[in-house]
Amino acid sequence: MNCYNNSYLCDPKFGNVHFMSFLKQFVIPFKGLLDGHHEYEFHLDAQFFKEFEASPIHESDLTANVKLNKHLDLMTVQLKLEGWVRETCDRCLAEINLPLTRTYDLVFKREEGESEDPDLILLSPDAHEFSLADILYEYACLSVPLSKIYNCEKSKPKPCNEDVIKHITKEIDIIESNPVWDVLKNIKNN
Ligand SMILES: [Zn+2]
Repeated sequence: MNCYNNSYLCDPKFGNVHFMSFLKQFVIPFKGLLDGHHEYEFHLDAQFFKEFEASPIHESDLTANVKLNKHLDLMTVQLKLEGWVRETCDRCLAEINLPLTRTYDLVFKREEGESEDPDLILLSPDAHEFSLADILYEYACLSVPLSKIYNCEKSKPKPCNEDVIKHITKEIDIIESNPVWDVLKNIKNN
């Protein structure tokens, strides 16, 4: 049985305790769903990420919009994550609300076995519900850009540390005004 996306439900340890937990709101009882389109919206904030040990995301304000299209034996799911995560700016080391917007397309299929494809999730034919919590967590982590920089000039108040930015700009000016660079520039221009 593939427990990738509903490991909590598969773990007998959790039992009814899980259903009283914060993550209960992320369980979708798909068995009772009519074929066709369904839409869900979830809010992923610090309380959500606290549920996952070793989460790289702590403070955040993310909206997860889930568009589910149910067919007879499979469901297509479009997952859109939008909002910000609290990160350290790569440029000035200030704490910033790094914006992110990412969309993912997933397929849920009722089939026994293990899926090799991360975008294909296999649900046991006898399962009647699944939890989106793990999926939302994994895709939120995947959505955080590697480079923690954004154009913060228009944000008010500006989150970046101006003194550090000025300092870096000065350093770049010094490097660029270094005669060695002029020599290199000349070589490049010739
Ligand atoms: Zn910055």
